[in-house]
Amino acid sequence: MKRVLILGATGSIGVQTIEVCENLGYQIVGITADKNYLKLFELSKRCHPDYVVINQQTGYNNLKEMLGNHVLFGTEGLKEVISESKADIIVNAIVGSAGILPTIEAIKHCKRIALANKETLVGAGEMIMKLAKEFQCEIIPVDSEHSAVFQCLDGQKIKKIHLTASGGPFLGYKSSQLEAVTIEDALKHPTWKMGSKITIDSATLMNKGLEVIEAKWLFNVDADKINVVIHPESIIHSFVQYEDNSFIAQLGAHDMRIPIQYAFTYPDRYENNFNVMDLVSLGKLTFQNPDIDTFKCLGLAYDALQYGNTMPLVLNAANEAAVQMFLEEKISFTKIWYLIEKVMNNHHNIYTDDISEILEIDRITRIRTFEGGNKCQ
Ligand code: NAD
Ligand code: MG
Repeated sequence: MKRVLILGATGSIGVQTIEVCENLGYQIVGITADKNYLKLFELSKRCHPDYVVINQQTGYNNLKEMLGNHVLFGTEGLKEVISESKADIIVNAIVGSAGILPTIEAIKHCKRIALANKETLVGAGEMIMKLAKEFQCEIIPVDSEHSAVFQCLDGQKIKKIHLTASGGPFLGYKSSQLEAVTIEDALKHPTWKMGSKITIDSATLMNKGLEVIEAKWLFNVDADKINVVIHPESIIHSFVQYEDNSFIAQLGAHDMRIPIQYAFTYPDRYENNFNVMDLVSLGKLTFQNPDIDTFKCLGLAYDALQYGNTMPLVLNAANEAAVQMFLEEKISFTKIWYLIEKVMNNHHNIYTDDISEILEIDRITRIRTFEGGNKCQ
């Protein structure tokens, strides 16, 4: 029986990961979260972990009273659970660049990471991939598109990767229509049910931009070989095109438990009772090019990749801050990319593989974005 540690257990991927563990009969040795202590309590009653970690002081006090001694607190608690839990697999389902440090710790203490936290690779991809090689830690993607690409690899040289995107709730909208969209509109994803940050990223197409950068690091492929294609039905999760122009695709139901389970069992496949795609009722599968003039985030992500160094880190941090402001009703939807572009233009782009410098640039970028956002109000 494998031992699994779930970072970000209370979120959308976290809870689905628990279902995968239940399906496979794997033991959950630890669960962590930011502040939702009631949910952590409920989950710990369900999966009886050795460790529970929470990032917020009041939540910690409450949880310690409810659960006793095996509750740990904050960054130190997270480090402790990663080094002490002896997990065979660590799932990083934290949202945002808060996932970078835990990924680094996990690489040092575990042989397999099931990585959902794409912001880790966007912010510090080069360093993470080097470290994973050094510590012989496998990084297996959970993101459905990257799991698809991973499943389509046959050892041959890749000509192109085609990442599919649903297009989000505003597919077909023009810039003027995007001015007035509301949070409720933006949170209505047509095909997937996910956490709020990634749902907004899907509506701006930044999610696909982040995934282009994620793909570059996971598969060691240059940006000009990574193409994005809109596929509103979200049935084909991505394609790999080889030198002979053969396209290999991976298809499946909209169910993240399938790629999560594959990240656990690879190279084997195991049975489950998750959603099954019904071929006959699929209907027409359609494809179109993304409208990068309207959805500027995708272009900004390609720009960041082109500039390299710390620019993708800045793109990501500015996006996280801007999305937070949008969700707090402080800025409008279109201001998300306005702010990101502005912050990127003012970034002095340096190379660093020093983690404290990476985290400092991340922190300063957020402050600059919040300041920019406050001026827009
Ligand atoms: P979510 O918001 O539902 O859950 C996020 C989790 O991270 C929660 O458990 C929360 O407590 C924890 N967390 C947040 N801030 C933290 C911090 N500062 N320190 C420690 N823990 C913190 O998010 P989600 O939709 O499950 O997405 C998680 C990650 O997986 C994201 O990187 C997302 O891009 C990626 N992803 C999600 C999906 C999906 O279907 N939800 C699909 C592909 C990739
Ligand atoms: Mg994805």
